Amino acid sequence: MAKIKTALITGIHGQDGYYLSQLLVEKNYHVVGLGRRLSGPKWPHASRIDYQVADLIDLAHLIRLLQEHRPVEIYNLAAQSQVPLSWEQPIGTFGANGLSVIHLLEAIRRTDSSIRFFQASSAQIFGRHRSQICDEQTPFRPHNPYASSKLFAHMMTVDYREGQGLFASCGILFNHESPLRPPSFVSRKIASAVARIKLGRQDKLALGNLNSVRDWGYAEDYVEGMWLSLQVEEPSDFVFCTGEAHSVQDFAQLAFEVVDLDWTDYVSEEKQFRQIDRTDVLVGTPNKAQEILGWQVRTAFSTLVEKMVRSELKAQIGSQ
Ligand code: NDP
Repeated sequence: MAKIKTALITGIHGQDGYYLSQLLVEKNYHVVGLGRRLSGPKWPHASRIDYQVADLIDLAHLIRLLQEHRPVEIYNLAAQSQVPLSWEQPIGTFGANGLSVIHLLEAIRRTDSSIRFFQASSAQIFGRHRSQICDEQTPFRPHNPYASSKLFAHMMTVDYREGQGLFASCGILFNHESPLRPPSFVSRKIASAVARIKLGRQDKLALGNLNSVRDWGYAEDYVEGMWLSLQVEEPSDFVFCTGEAHSVQDFAQLAFEVVDLDWTDYVSEEKQFRQIDRTDVLVGTPNKAQEILGWQVRTAFSTLVEKMVRSELKAQIGSQ
């Protein structure tokens, strides 16, 4: 009988922690999930997760965890992932996103250098590349503390791969959403407002720049890419994106269409919701991930929007 593999996931309570742990449980991994709260996640598959509280900048504790659980794969998803908050808490953001990565890589090097490591890098490291389609060769130009902390983590992962021979890969992830996206993100804000408007609980939806363009995918597709990154022979860095550009207006229009309403009757554009360092265009090409990993985007943009709106409707009707 094949030996059950153990995978360790940091940031288990987050959106990607949910989808990745679900995927790995389905693949019959023993999943160890690290979080910083006393209690573990409350999801349907949570009983299949071995939940552990961990401080990701406590090297001795991380080494003990690796010695005890003997993971063959580690997925580092923990991060302070909100760009606006990174301007309020730049030092905390660097600690969560940057320092934790050196601790994890060092724990691997000192415990078992055969452990495969996945780092969740962000397309934000490309920064402001107007109209440029980003791939693995695009220069990095981060322009906010979140992006800079992610670039530091990215480069440390490359350093440990090239300098220490670790199997350490980065997924340069473009925006990926789901019903589990925190409410502060525009996709969830729109989905939630559309459901509330449909149910007569809200009148209007004020958004920042409606022309702001993103490459938006569905989280379930992206966690499959994370897993695939650690199944190939050679570690490398891969861009995960859909290759499609959609504006905030496109998202809002489709979301209102799901509930048979016209977005122009409800949406206004207001300066106060504009992000000070909004990246103008962030679109990528997933060619390398497609060719080397066989990764495919399975979920269309319109399906993603519909999933999010229907989930909000269900949740809000359930809370009546
Ligand atoms: P979430 O914000 O949903 O989850 C992040 C998790 O990290 C949370 O569970 C949070 O814990 C945990 N965390 C935050 N700070 C710390 C800390 N100091 N120590 C330990 N844990 C911490 O992010 P996603 O799941 O959406 O994203 C997963 C990863 O992918 C992140 O690294 C993110 O930066 C990256 N990424 C995501 C993109 C996206 O579009 N979703 C795009 C590009 C990159 P708690 O729940 O306790 O707050």
